[in-house]
Amino acid sequence: MGEMKIPRFLTSLLPTIKRAQLCPECGQEFACEIGLKGCWCGQVKLSEGTLKVLRVRYKSCLCRRCLEWAEREYQRHIEMQLESDS
Ligand SMILES: [Zn+2]
Ligand SMILES: [Zn+2]
Repeated sequence: MGEMKIPRFLTSLLPTIKRAQLCPECGQEFACEIGLKGCWCGQVKLSEGTLKVLRVRYKSCLCRRCLEWAEREYQRHIEMQLESDS
């Protein structure tokens, strides 16, 4: 049990507390910033397409590194499709 329990009376004092969770892609522990901006995930810029794929594929969000990786891979995929079309 590595999870840190926070007494309930304290959570009301800390409304923006970050939820620690495990990245479903790489297993790294990270802090989801879901409380800040509706997640996916705070500061990482993701395109609409990437967001769509991620929402279908994962129930929770990924760590920052995996989010950036997902965006890169998605863009590369799109470019490959465009190339094969022409
Ligand atoms: Zn990850
Ligand atoms: Zn998140």
